[in-house]
Amino acid sequence: MSLAPATDRDLAASLRHGIAGVVALPEDPDYQRIMPWNAAVPVAPCAAVFAASAHDVAATVRVAASHGLTVAVQATGHGAVPIGAESILVHTGALNGCVVDSRNRTAWVGAGATWQHVLDAVTPLGLAPACGSAPGVGVVGFLIGGGIGPLVRSIGLSSDYVRAFELVTGSGEMLRVTPEQHGDLFWGLRGSKSTLGIVTAVEIELLPITEFYGGALYFDGSDAAAVLRAWQRWCVGLPESVSTSIALLQLPELPDVPSPLAGRFTVAVRYVALGSAFEGARLLAPMREVTEPVIDAVTVLPYAAIGAVHADPPNPTPAHENHALLRELAPEAVEALLAVAGPDAGSMQTVVELRMLGGVLAQPAQHRSAFCHRGAAFALTTIGALVPPIADLVPANAAAIIDALAPWSTGGQLPNFAASSDPERLARCYDEDTLYWLAALAERYDPAGVLRVGQVARYPM
Ligand SMILES: Cc1cc2nc3c(=O)[nH]c(=O)nc-3n(C[C@H](O)[C@H](O)[C@H](O)COP(=O)(O)OP(=O)(O)OC[C@H]3O[C@@H](n4cnc5c(N)ncnc54)[C@H](O)[C@@H]3O)c2cc1C
Repeated sequence: MSLAPATDRDLAASLRHGIAGVVALPEDPDYQRIMPWNAAVPVAPCAAVFAASAHDVAATVRVAASHGLTVAVQATGHGAVPIGAESILVHTGALNGCVVDSRNRTAWVGAGATWQHVLDAVTPLGLAPACGSAPGVGVVGFLIGGGIGPLVRSIGLSSDYVRAFELVTGSGEMLRVTPEQHGDLFWGLRGSKSTLGIVTAVEIELLPITEFYGGALYFDGSDAAAVLRAWQRWCVGLPESVSTSIALLQLPELPDVPSPLAGRFTVAVRYVALGSAFEGARLLAPMREVTEPVIDAVTVLPYAAIGAVHADPPNPTPAHENHALLRELAPEAVEALLAVAGPDAGSMQTVVELRMLGGVLAQPAQHRSAFCHRGAAFALTTIGALVPPIADLVPANAAAIIDALAPWSTGGQLPNFAASSDPERLARCYDEDTLYWLAALAERYDPAGVLRVGQVARYPM
């Protein structure tokens, strides 16, 4: 739907009347600030509201409802999905506060904060958030998708560390959500992405972790088969104190890519071990012995350096992702992966990653949540750059890689990976009961469907 100019002006006037933050229409210079981290995704709402408070978010929801529009939300755009002119976009970037209660080991975190904001605030106090691989990712977007961090096998799902949410519902109500208050929403918000409202802040538990033994071993592409086969065998015996992933990399020649890794095929074995460095090194030894790495960047690191484990790109990238969960990684699965994504396969993906799951993730959490698939053994993700001359070929190539591993797939997916508003893809994130209850909760808290846009779960009627 495209609004007539007069309607645009009416809308802007209604928004500016009750909102303290900046309101921008497409022709305003501030509108450019909504450009998402994933630069391949068209984000083109009829107006952008740069919220200065939770009240601004609630006011936006009410104005949208009165104009027959929907409201989408974005912090960084790492998980952007297409947004069109039938939506107003709430940009939460200015709500980036982080207030730490070190005695109770908790932090109150605004909806626009990234994990870097939290790391900066808590690591000097000897505390650690259950963050993801990339410090530039938004805390709330990550947590409402469950959150699989680089320590996932040792500490479990990141959203299990949420104590409370502050929420604006589709009716414009402002609620505090805890296990005791609005327990139905507390269950649903941990896993359902944007289905149940706009989170304006979150309270999280912090961990007493100051350092870890970890980083990554980078191997030459010619060793890919030996390294991947060894990684598969090595994973079988790993204890919960260790988390690991492996990535087949074809990194571009860019200034921030180290020269031994730029413009060639390499393999990264990412590793994080809690406990003594001696034990961490002992457990990693079989991977170090496979062959000489081109870079050995595994050492004792302060928790503040957790982003070094995956070394994800901080700058906006036109990315295409695909994703599947595997119930096991059989030796045959490794051969299948090498055939489609190994150094001789002509893969067009920048990254093909396998994350080992299990450990604490697979154990029941204190509070049940809408996050499903705790029992999956590995997560497979492809990331390709949608740049010429391969842009048109990357999605089909990614699908071929996912298809090749189909015999080992659970059929499920994680809400945080390969962001999409496709109902069929979203349905794969949940079991039937969870999907039903999420849709029922959405109906109850957002009867007019003001927030029914973007990555929201829908029950097929
Ligand atoms: C480089 C990179 C590394 C990543 N690493 C990991 C990882 O290690 N583990 C993992 O689990 N995931 C990871 N992800 C996925 C990431 O967690 C999701 O894409 C997450 O949704 C990003 O949140 P964001 O706020 O940064 O992005 P945005 O694009 O701003 O938001 C993403 C989604 O969250 C919703 N959302 C954002 N803020 C709110 C809010 N306040 N209220 C309600 N809905 C909101 C948006 O509507 C959108 O659907 C990674 C992604 C990238 C690109």
